Amino acid sequence: MKKEQNDLMQKIVSLCKRRGFIYPSSEIYGGFAAVYDYGPYGVELENAVKREWWRAMVQLRDDIVGLDSSIFMHPRVWEASGHVGGFSDPLAECKNCHARLRVDHLLEDVGAAADEKMSEEEINKIFTEHKEKIKCPNCGKSDFSDAKKFNLLVKSNLGNFTGDWDKEPSYLRGETCQGIYINYKNILDSARVKVPFGIAQIGKAFRNEITARQFVFRTREFEQMEMQYFTHPENEMEEYEKLRQARWQYYLNLGFKEENIKWHKHENLVFYAKEAYDIEYNYPFGFKELEGVHARGNYDLSQHSKFSGQELNYIDPKTSEKYVPHIIESSVGVGRTVLAALCEAYTEEKMEDGERIVMKFPRKLAPVKIAVFPLLKNKPELVEKAREIYDLLKMDYMCEFDDNGNVGKRYRRQDEIGTPFCVTIDFDTIEKDNTVTVRDRDTMAQERVQVDELDKYFREKF
Ligand code: ATP
Repeated sequence: MKKEQNDLMQKIVSLCKRRGFIYPSSEIYGGFAAVYDYGPYGVELENAVKREWWRAMVQLRDDIVGLDSSIFMHPRVWEASGHVGGFSDPLAECKNCHARLRVDHLLEDVGAAADEKMSEEEINKIFTEHKEKIKCPNCGKSDFSDAKKFNLLVKSNLGNFTGDWDKEPSYLRGETCQGIYINYKNILDSARVKVPFGIAQIGKAFRNEITARQFVFRTREFEQMEMQYFTHPENEMEEYEKLRQARWQYYLNLGFKEENIKWHKHENLVFYAKEAYDIEYNYPFGFKELEGVHARGNYDLSQHSKFSGQELNYIDPKTSEKYVPHIIESSVGVGRTVLAALCEAYTEEKMEDGERIVMKFPRKLAPVKIAVFPLLKNKPELVEKAREIYDLLKMDYMCEFDDNGNVGKRYRRQDEIGTPFCVTIDFDTIEKDNTVTVRDRDTMAQERVQVDELDKYFREKF
C-alpha cells in the first residue's frame, strides 16, 4: 500500500473509533482479532446499507421474496455444499515472526497464482518456485513453512453433548446462501412464486480467515446480503446479464462514483460455474472484491437433492416440464459496503480557519439525518423550543439534539458523522418570526425556514 493510501485508511479507521462508527472487539481485554463492533453511528449506517439493499432486492421487485434462515443448519448441509471437504485457503507460517499468511495472496503479490482447485502439492510447487522473491508482510524476512490447506468453517458444539464434539461438530454457517437452497422447496410450496424467482436474505456468516487485516474488509464474523435467483436452464445467462446490470446500477444509485467500481472476471471457474464476475471497489488498499455475481448452474440444488434424498426440482405449471432450476447469485458483504461508503464519503476541505473533515454520505445512508441545536444552552426558552422541534422531527427522521459547546464545534462534530442538516433555534425563533436556521452539510449555506414549513422542507430534501 502506498503511503498516502495507508494514511487515508488510518484516517478512516481513526475517525470510525473517535466518532463511534466502528470499534475493534473486546478492546478492554486487548482485542480479539478480525472481529469488530459497530457503535451508535456505525449501526445506523449499517442499517441504512441493509435497508437500501432490501428495498432494491425485495421491496421493488415482485419476483423476489425475503427469508431469514438460521445460522445453524444440519451438518450434512456443509458436506453437500462442499465446504467440509473443500472450503479452505492455503496457509503458511513465517518462520521468523510466526505470522500466519495466505499463500495465494503472497503469490498474487509477485505475479503468480494459486487457485482453490489446486492440491496442496501443486500450490507448494509454485510456492517453492517463488519463495525467494516473497517477503513476509509482517517482518520482511523470507523464510516460510510449506503451505497447508486450512479449512475456514467455524465449528461448534451446538446440540452435541458427547464431550467429543470436535469429531461431529455443528457449524456456524460459512455463507448465508445455503439457508436459501435448503428452503427452496418450502418457499416454492408456500409462497406464490414461479420460475424465474429469487430469494433474498441478510445475515451473519463466520469464517476462520487466516489473515486479519484491512479493518472490516475481512473479518471472521461478518454479515452477508445474498440473493439467489432460480431460472430455467435456457434462460440462465440472459437473467445473469440482467442481474449484472441491476447490480451495477444499484451502486450508482447508492451514490458510488462510477470510477470507483469495476468488473473483475474470474478466469479459473469452479467446474459447475457458467460465469463469475466480481464487482470490485477502489478501497484505499486497491480495487478489491465488494460483491460476487455468479452463474452457478444447477449444482447447488442438485447437491442438496443428492445428499438429502429429496427432489428439488420445478414443474412448469404451463408446460409441465420438469427440471432442476439453475441459479444465479448476487452476494455482498455488509461490512465491505459500509467500508466503501465510508471511503466514498470521507472528505477533507480547506476552510478559511483551517480544515474540516466531512463525511459526505448520500442522505439515505447518513446515520443521523438532522441535528437540532439551541443557540445557547443556558437560555431555557431556547432549549425548550429546540426540544419541541426535535421531538417533532424525530418522529420521521433519526435526529440528534446537541447543546454542547459553541455552534461552530457542534457543526464540526455533525460534519464528521455526516449529518446532512443542522437546525439552530435562536432568539429570532422565539421573539420575532418563528424561523430557524437550517445549515447544509456540503455547501455550509444557511437559510431561514419557518418552523411550520420544516416538515415540508425536509420531505423535499429526503
Ligand atoms: P475473498 O476472496 O475476498 O475472501 P470470497 O470470494 O471468499 O472473498 P464470497 O465467498 O464470494 O467471498 O462471499 C461473498 C461476499 O461476502 C464477498 O463478496 C464479500 O463482500 C463478503 N465476504 C466474504 N468473506 C468476508 C469476510 N471475511 N469479511 C467480510 N466480508 C466478507
